[in-house]
Amino acid sequence: MSKAISDSEARNQGPEIVRRTAWPQSSSRPVSTPLQMSVVYASDSPDALDAQYDGTAPGYAYAREGHPNADVLAQKIDGMEAVQGGLITGSGMAALSAVMLGLLQSGDHVVAGDQLYGRSMRILTQDAPRLGIKATLADATDAKAIEAALRPDTRMVLVEVVSNPTLRLADIDGIAALTRERGILFVVDNTFTTPRAFRPFEHGADIVLHSVTKLLAGHSDVTLGYVAAQEARLQDMIREAAATWGLTPSPFDCWLAERGLHSFNLRYDRAEENAAELADLLAGLPGVRRVIYPGRPDHPDFQRARSLLKGRSGNMVSFEIEGGREAANRLTRGAPDIAFAPTLGDIGTTLSHPASSSHRALSADMQRAIGISEGFFRISVGVEEIDGLRRDFIQAIDAAVQG
Ligand SMILES: *Cc1c(COP(=O)(O)O)cnc(C)c1O
Repeated sequence: MSKAISDSEARNQGPEIVRRTAWPQSSSRPVSTPLQMSVVYASDSPDALDAQYDGTAPGYAYAREGHPNADVLAQKIDGMEAVQGGLITGSGMAALSAVMLGLLQSGDHVVAGDQLYGRSMRILTQDAPRLGIKATLADATDAKAIEAALRPDTRMVLVEVVSNPTLRLADIDGIAALTRERGILFVVDNTFTTPRAFRPFEHGADIVLHSVTKLLAGHSDVTLGYVAAQEARLQDMIREAAATWGLTPSPFDCWLAERGLHSFNLRYDRAEENAAELADLLAGLPGVRRVIYPGRPDHPDFQRARSLLKGRSGNMVSFEIEGGREAANRLTRGAPDIAFAPTLGDIGTTLSHPASSSHRALSADMQRAIGISEGFFRISVGVEEIDGLRRDFIQAIDAAVQG
């Protein structure tokens, strides 16, 4: 028999709902990483808080300055890059921002590869100049071109190992020798190559950054970045900049990315195997003008790819078909199961068209200079069954060519 409760009695049961319930005790531990969404952490006393801020006791205070899910993920990527103390940021662009805001001053000069990710290019050419930081872009496949761009006030050289979308390989060893000799910071964006194929610190990089959004997380459901400096002093400056400018990641994104990372090696190896097969398939199809894949002997940097990537070639394949925009439209419509989306590193295969997306801001002349035409596509190969992928691309190229 239920006893009727008056409204006021019900309201009086209120406080326990507001107060946080103690976490249930368990003498066993969870197997998967717990998700810790708390923004603030309560301490026992001002003494305890002091000890934490002084660094004599471990702990977290406020999530913008760090939280467990970010640290768990950072430690995993640290292990892959063979470094310590790396930092997770809210995006790949936040990682680059943390490096620039933490380490550069007004009046400093940066030399960067001329085929960087579009927004990285924009920071260097449009946003950093507003803060008094100047940049010169140069061909990263040629250490001599980078050397020619150096000035007395150059503080940093930034390159990507494999360029987008033409998949050229930077002269990492040549540039590392230059920056070491002149005492300039060498920053490598390792997003495309990942530590599975290339570990920049082993080649003289001072700082490595990633868009974790891409291959490392791998499922197109988080936006995150990572940055690590070899030198602890630099890493502290980057960490402080990220905490102050608010470049911090969400715990949930970090938790998802860690989950994705568990299968990273398997995904990478399978996607790479598929990419090599697809590259060879495309090269033999009528209507395909050229295929760019670092694992093929006809790649312009084949020898460098072999020595830098130690036999790995990655999951990215670019190719060019005959015909203009119309043929390109027929191609994407002819492959309805392949996501036509300007991203990379997803578990599924995606197709992008630089002329209408990542490189649309470039003039026709600049597009031509780096070899991008209306028939140019870039594939981020995923982990599907290769037979289905082969069928999809044969059908798509056929649709493009038949017209
Ligand atoms: C995507 C990407 C970035 C930017 O990363 P976000 O996570 O999208 O901010 C930087 N560099 C490269 C090479 C990228 O592919």
